[in-house]
Amino acid sequence: MGLEERRRALVASLMEQGYLRSRRVAEAMMKVPRELFVPEDQREWTYDDRPLPIGFDQTISAPSIVAYMTELLNPLPGDKVLEVGTGSGYQAAILAELVSPGGFVWTIERIAQLAESARRRLESLGYGDRVKVVVGDGSLGYPEAAPYDKIMVTAAAPSVPPPLVEQLKPGGVLVIPVGPPYMQHLYVVRKGERGVEMWRDISVVFVPLLGKYGWGEQDR
Ligand code: SAM
Repeated sequence: MGLEERRRALVASLMEQGYLRSRRVAEAMMKVPRELFVPEDQREWTYDDRPLPIGFDQTISAPSIVAYMTELLNPLPGDKVLEVGTGSGYQAAILAELVSPGGFVWTIERIAQLAESARRRLESLGYGDRVKVVVGDGSLGYPEAAPYDKIMVTAAAPSVPPPLVEQLKPGGVLVIPVGPPYMQHLYVVRKGERGVEMWRDISVVFVPLLGKYGWGEQDR
C-alpha cells in the first residue's frame, strides 16, 4: 500500500472507532502528510495508530489522540489558536488547515532544536503564513498574541495553568491533559459568560509539561 492509501485507511479506521467525528477534521488529517513529521527511521510506522519518538525524549502523539483532541477543540476558520508543545509540528499543521481561511496558529516549544526543525518543516509545507513557532515556556501561554479563541496543550500538566485560562477570549476553549505520568485525563475548559466551566474527558498518556506551571525537573 502507498502512503496516501495507508493514510486513507487510518482516517477511515479513526472514523469507524469514533475518534474522528467531523468531515472537516478527517479532511485535514487526509491532507497533512504525517510521514514528513516523523524521523526517517520511524517512517514505516507513520500510519499505525501510535505515538512515535521524535528525539529529545519527546513524541509525536498517536493519530487517534490528535483526531480526538482536535474534535474537542473544534478549531474554526478565522480562529486564533495557541498550541503548547510544538514537538514535530504535526498538530500545528492540522490546526492550520482548520483555521483557514483567516485564522492563525501560534505554537510554543521549550526545546529550541525541536522548534527550529518544526518551523522549517511547516514552512517547507506551505504553512509559514498561518503558523508561527515560538521558543519558550508554554505553561505561561504566549501573552504577546493573546487573547485566543482556542488553546490546545499537548503535554501533561499537574493542573490547569492559570495564564492559559487568562489568555482565552470569552467563549474560548482550552483542551489540556492533566495528571501525573501515566494517569492523566483530558480536561476541557470553557470560559463562559457565567465563569469558567471545566469537565473531564477520556484518559490519556502524555509526556510531562515542564516549566513554571508544569512539572518541576524533580517530578520527572
Ligand atoms: N504536538 C506535538 C506534535 O504534533 O508533534 C507533540 C507534542 S509532544 C507529545 C509534547 C511537547 O511538549 C514536547 O515537544 C515537549 O518538549 C513540549 N513541552 C513540554 N513542556 C513544555 C513547555 N513548558 N512549553 C513548551 N513546550 C513544552
